[in-house]
Order: sequence, then C-alpha cells, then structure tokens
Amino acid sequence: MTKLVLATQNEHKVHELRQILAELVDELGLEIVGASDFPDAPDVVESEVTFVGNARLKAVAVAQATGLPSVADDSGLAVDVLGGSPGVFSARWSGTHAGPDAPRAARDGANVSLLLEQIGDVPDEHRSASFVCAAVLAMPDGSIESVEGRVLGSISREPVGENGFGYDPIFVPEGDTRAMAEYTDVEKNEISHRGRAFRAMIPVLRERLS
Ligand code: IMP
Repeated sequence: MTKLVLATQNEHKVHELRQILAELVDELGLEIVGASDFPDAPDVVESEVTFVGNARLKAVAVAQATGLPSVADDSGLAVDVLGGSPGVFSARWSGTHAGPDAPRAARDGANVSLLLEQIGDVPDEHRSASFVCAAVLAMPDGSIESVEGRVLGSISREPVGENGFGYDPIFVPEGDTRAMAEYTDVEKNEISHRGRAFRAMIPVLRERLS
C-alpha cells in the first residue's frame, strides 16, 4: 500500500482532502494520512511570499522528514484593487487586532472587518477578487509537482452566512448572489479553489504514485 502524507495539522483539511481524493484510495491502494501521525514532522514557518512557495516549503519538509510522498497546500484571498492582497497574509491580515491567542472565529472576524473598511470607498464594479490555492506534491527523491485552483468572485459590503470560515461571508462567487458562507460543504467543494487544485492534483498523483 502506498502512503501519501497530507502536510497539514488541520484535521478539517485532512477530512476535506480525503473526500476529494477518495477515488484514488481504491484505484492506487493509497493510504492517506495526516502530518499529525508523524510527531517528528517539522512545523514549517510559511516564510515565502507566494502560495506555491509556501506549499512547496511544507510539502518538501514533510517528504524529507517522513520519507513518503507528501502533499501540501497554501491558500488565501486576492483582491484585485489591493494588488492581490491579502494574498499569503490572508490569515493574519489584521495582525494581532483580535489578540495573538484569539480563536479562529475572532481572527476571521477582525480580518473581514479590516478588509471591508479598506475597500469601503471602492464601487461595486471594482470589487473583484479570487480565492487561490496552490497544491504541491513532493516526492522523497526531491522532485516536486505543483497545481493551482482559483475561484473568481467579488467582495460584498456586509458579511452574510454561517458556513465555511475566513473570508467566506464576504466572498460572492461569480454568477451567484449568495456569499460563499451560504454554500453547503458539498457546494463549496465543487467550485472552491481548494477543490479545484486537488482535483487537478488527481492525475498527477495517478502518474507519480502508480
Ligand atoms: P491556509 O491555506 O489554511 O493557510 O489559509 C490561509 C487563510 O486564507 C485562511 O486563514 C483564510 O483567511 C483564507 N482562506 C483560505 N481558504 C479560504 C476559504 O475557503 N474561505 C475563506 N477564507 C479562506
């Protein structure tokens, strides 16, 4: 059986990615495990300034530490009028406004409020944005493969919806009037940047792991 390590400590992501990659489990006899199964795997500092750079750092570090193929992702929101920010700083856009130990919901709320304030004067036709996800496969021999997923949309004026996390309450996917936080998990996976990136990774995994 081939093992694939998902280079994340986030169990929610492991669950989501297991669902997306489910078709490969039987086909390739693949066992998908989280980095938390390897207590010695390094906790990597995301020091790069691109999504693919940070995903590469995480995937390579875990592949080296475990000797197994490893997949990592990095994602965030890119607002066009802000030149692609918050970008790789999406998780910590409001700095420590919500407090360094604040729970995720408080940090998300502070990030959303700051962003809405920053583009408060920007008219609706210039509020375009995208969610971006880079996914990288690192092999124990040092080779890497990368893919990207993207979903286009715009930033609303008020947060709406209870589902998802992060900027979902203010992100309205192109062609819809609902915010991403009003989508079910299944609906979100179908169109999301992460869903798209990991579906693009399926043929790569099929080729490299079979
Ligand atoms: P990471 O890839 O988990 O490091 O995500 C970085 C940050 O980007 C998160 O903390 C969120 O602020 C934002 N983000 C990434 N993906 C999503 C999403 O699907 N919805 C809303 N926000 C997201």
